[in-house]
Amino acid sequence: MLKIDNLHVEVGGKEILHGITMHIKPGETHVLMGPNGSGKSTLLMTIMGFDAYHVTRGSISFNGSDVTHMPVHERARLGMGIMFQRPPSIPGLKLGKMLDVINPEKKPEFVTAAVTRMNMEEFVERDINLGFSGGEIKRSEILQMMVQDPSFIMLDEPESGVDLENIHLMGESIARLLQKNQRFIDRKNSGLVITHTGYILDYLDVDKGHVMINGEFKCHGNPREILKLIKEKGYKECLSCAKIL
Ligand code: ADP
Ligand code: MG
Ligand code: MG
Repeated sequence: MLKIDNLHVEVGGKEILHGITMHIKPGETHVLMGPNGSGKSTLLMTIMGFDAYHVTRGSISFNGSDVTHMPVHERARLGMGIMFQRPPSIPGLKLGKMLDVINPEKKPEFVTAAVTRMNMEEFVERDINLGFSGGEIKRSEILQMMVQDPSFIMLDEPESGVDLENIHLMGESIARLLQKNQRFIDRKNSGLVITHTGYILDYLDVDKGHVMINGEFKCHGNPREILKLIKEKGYKECLSCAKIL
């Protein structure tokens, strides 16, 4: 599904990622952990292909195509989707309008059902994310992703800023997004999820965890075990934990 090989990435003239290698197989969900500023969001933005992120060495391939230098919209067309850590608002573009155009394959009934599921009926007439609370923004992003229907889903701290009442809705919705592809009933989607708190792991069937520190992977293994270790002993433990997990 996704193969990243020895990826080096520069942002604003400075190297942030120093040789990342990972392989996410079809149907797998991987978890990315690590201290603030370690480069987790940078990795997701680079995989999606945003302009500010310059790959100086290494490669990214997706379903067998080399996408290392492919523009964002082409990666989206191949089935990549991302939910940002801090999604921007889009003044002048109503959420309902966006949902109508995001994926021409989706029938209006599908879109309406998705809006209801995410409790966003009152929001379709509003400009995207403008004046939305943190939790409402995340719900709106999940809703857009449900309609876009990507086969590889990247989520950057989906639970941050979401109140406890909505965490359940978010968790269940994200689990549904990952569980199956709406176009291919027997196919699971793949995912890459950044989490600090681990709340989201209560809802997801995850396969592998990676800890990034200063732009490098320091530890790989069972995400729940890694999280437990971090909570008990801190990230410094990950500098030597490759042996343990
Ligand atoms: P994380 O998501 O792990 O908290 P980020 O990927 O957001 O970390 O950031 C990694 C590092 O890259 C940080 O030191 C951050 O300041 C730097 N960085 C991110 N974006 C830019 C940018 N546009 N220009 C310069 N430095 C950046
Ligand atoms: Mg951060
Ligand atoms: Mg981040």
